[in-house]
Amino acid sequence: MANMTLGSTGICVNKNGFGALPIQRISKEAAVCLIRRAYEGGITFFDTARSYTDSEVKLGEALEGIRDKVYVATKTPANNAEDFWKDLETSLRNLRTDYVDIFQFHNPSFCPKPGDGTGLYEAMLEAKAQGKIRHIGITNHRLAVAEEAIESGLYETLQFPFCYLATEKDLALEEKCRKAGMGFLAMKALSGGLITNSRAAYAFEAQYDNVLPIWGIQRERELEEFLSYVNDPPEMTEELLAVIEHDRKELLGEFCRGCGYCMPCPVDIEINNCARMSLMIRRAPSAAQLTPEMQAKMMNIKNCLHCGQCKSKCPYGLDTPALLEKNLKDYEEILAGKEY
Ligand code: SF4
Ligand code: SF4
Repeated sequence: MANMTLGSTGICVNKNGFGALPIQRISKEAAVCLIRRAYEGGITFFDTARSYTDSEVKLGEALEGIRDKVYVATKTPANNAEDFWKDLETSLRNLRTDYVDIFQFHNPSFCPKPGDGTGLYEAMLEAKAQGKIRHIGITNHRLAVAEEAIESGLYETLQFPFCYLATEKDLALEEKCRKAGMGFLAMKALSGGLITNSRAAYAFEAQYDNVLPIWGIQRERELEEFLSYVNDPPEMTEELLAVIEHDRKELLGEFCRGCGYCMPCPVDIEINNCARMSLMIRRAPSAAQLTPEMQAKMMNIKNCLHCGQCKSKCPYGLDTPALLEKNLKDYEEILAGKEY
């Protein structure tokens, strides 16, 4: 069994974390079954967020009776102390617990610090002093904010996208985190569905002692795949390296990660799905990508105002309107039955 310790937090868990964002899309009954099965199979770290609609409620119900045997991380999008406390109390109530193991600022556009006027970091310290949270964390999609958080010495964990498509800068970030004694929670370890070889994804993460991958899990078959790695963790092999090399060639560069931070769009273009549609069709085809509803969403790209709002918010510096146009062109070719 591959266990790991998350930086200086002392949290020691199997190197498979459960990401509870996708359980929003399934029934409470199914979510509770999935989470309990995850626990029985050896997963003891669960990550959710105040913003994931009913995810905390489902997790709270599933962890009834086993709360002290697992670690729970959640997040607040608050940008002032008042909202921070409201969120923390709601999370505790939803999760049916009196403490959160890691409470994280959810993708703030700046790095909260004491004395910055928001009162956010002071609230974290007070919540810790009251025993309502055990460790202070931050999540981000922006390298600059993540780097500032590490340099500040104020955070015990960083949650950041980290998969085998990582750039040199992402790898350097992980190294800085490790040197600073911070735990690194890897989000989007399957790059939002673009990576379809979970063995290769796991073997990549396994090379970093300090990294805990948080797999977003919605289906039993996905869960069973990761549970099989609890006792038999995949190691890097020539074959898996070849998969990674192939994917890096195909995917590196200008691709949409589906994070949705560029939204909302004034004409309601569903950017996080539409700007990656042709890649998803090629890598993980599903009937849902060609339904009349999805076709209407893709055609809505034609209404783009080129206002540039999305482009200015994309943490990956993508030219979002151009990417949307390219995806629409590919999609129309697919609909027309052209070779793609
Ligand atoms: S540029 Fe187009 S897609 Fe982007 S926010 Fe504006 S209208 Fe929406
Ligand atoms: S365009 Fe950028 S911000 Fe928008 S969903 Fe894709 S990666 Fe995220």
